[in-house]
Amino acid sequence: MSSTMTVEQARELLLQHVKVMDVERVDLLDSLGRVLAQDMASDIDVAPFDNSAMDGFAVRAADLNGASEQTPARVRIIEHIAAGDYPELEVGPGEASRIMTGAPMPLGADAVVMVEYSSVIEGDGAIDSLVALSRAVAEGENVRRRGEEVRAGDVVLNRGESIGPAGLGLLASTGHAKVSVYRRPRVAVLSTGSELVEVDQVPGPGKIRNSNSYSVAAQVIAAGGIPVRYDIVPDDMQATREAFTHAAANSDFIVTTGGVSVGDFDYVKPVLQELGELMYCKVTMRPGNPQTMGMIDETPFFGLPGNPTSTYVGFEMFVRPAIRYMLGHTELDRPIVRARLAHDVRKKPDRRYFMRGVVSRAEDGLEVALSGNQSSALLMSVHKGNCFVVLPEGEREFSAGQIVDCIRLDIDEGIQL
Ligand code: AMP
Ligand code: MG
Repeated sequence: MSSTMTVEQARELLLQHVKVMDVERVDLLDSLGRVLAQDMASDIDVAPFDNSAMDGFAVRAADLNGASEQTPARVRIIEHIAAGDYPELEVGPGEASRIMTGAPMPLGADAVVMVEYSSVIEGDGAIDSLVALSRAVAEGENVRRRGEEVRAGDVVLNRGESIGPAGLGLLASTGHAKVSVYRRPRVAVLSTGSELVEVDQVPGPGKIRNSNSYSVAAQVIAAGGIPVRYDIVPDDMQATREAFTHAAANSDFIVTTGGVSVGDFDYVKPVLQELGELMYCKVTMRPGNPQTMGMIDETPFFGLPGNPTSTYVGFEMFVRPAIRYMLGHTELDRPIVRARLAHDVRKKPDRRYFMRGVVSRAEDGLEVALSGNQSSALLMSVHKGNCFVVLPEGEREFSAGQIVDCIRLDIDEGIQL
């Protein structure tokens, strides 16, 4: 197998080696953003009873035939029904029950007239008062039917659906205090490099802060996984071996940063080969040519490059889809929009470029401008940007006005634009 792959091949091979996680039961609120592992049926009809959609009067629509401001219908109030009450009396001809939103419809009544169209003409509005209603209503008007949302026994949310706040509300109304969802993968985050010091240290001569560990862990969280940050792994064969062995035994996925170039102290590939299997170590893209994928026993391994933006791009393009797959999502691609380049861009023709840009709305469609210095050592262009501008391999020059694909990093997978 070639160790160099296209972006598509690299992604495909990684996705072939990850599995959907097993299932866990979680408290309803903890299911937010997760993927349902089973169909969820309702134990009751929702709504459980016919009820009023308005504050007003439950009436027999036929009694209000032709009612208007000039010729209001007159009804006698027989009962007050608040939300949470249960009506006791049947509404007969010429009668009405005062009813509040969400309160059960009384027998005999088939419509609700809004309180705005009523005036008390005799009594104080309490029971036995006479009320004028200045509006005719159709049968069923302002009545919400029993089972309108879902019937007892019917599926309200399907396996494979992701749970948003509204879905979570539906699960609540249908009696699910616990929910079966796919487990969140534990993702080991290992940063290699003898130049690295922890974030709370001031770097000494030749040292830099270990920022990748944080940006990658944050990307893991954003993708839905649980990051497990390891101590800095120095550029040392034995230290690398020990860290990888521990990570393989204790996590569902391993991400490393750095140590995958052709430097004298790049131990990621040799150790991966020794402990498991190396499947590729180069992808024809920029930034991030050295993307390294393999397996250690059953644990998928992805070695990201060390330069912060290369790390970021590699994670977005490969690791994020893999984590989403493990979480049970079927939508793995960020939305792509077509936008007009705001200025000329030059690149080398060898690889596909993922340049950091800002898409914005112009008068005649979308426009994209690069979001700053494109050096892969600098994260600022990612921070300022909202997309990757995709410039295909084989091409060299792009001029202002040309239409290019932009991967929207600010929009979730599966959203139709
Ligand atoms: P490497 O792939 O290990 O040769 O690293 C490439 C570049 O990325 C070097 O300039 C490193 O200093 C830098 N780098 C590697 N790891 C990190 C990290 N964890 N945080 C920030 N920069 C890093
Ligand atoms: Mg290194």
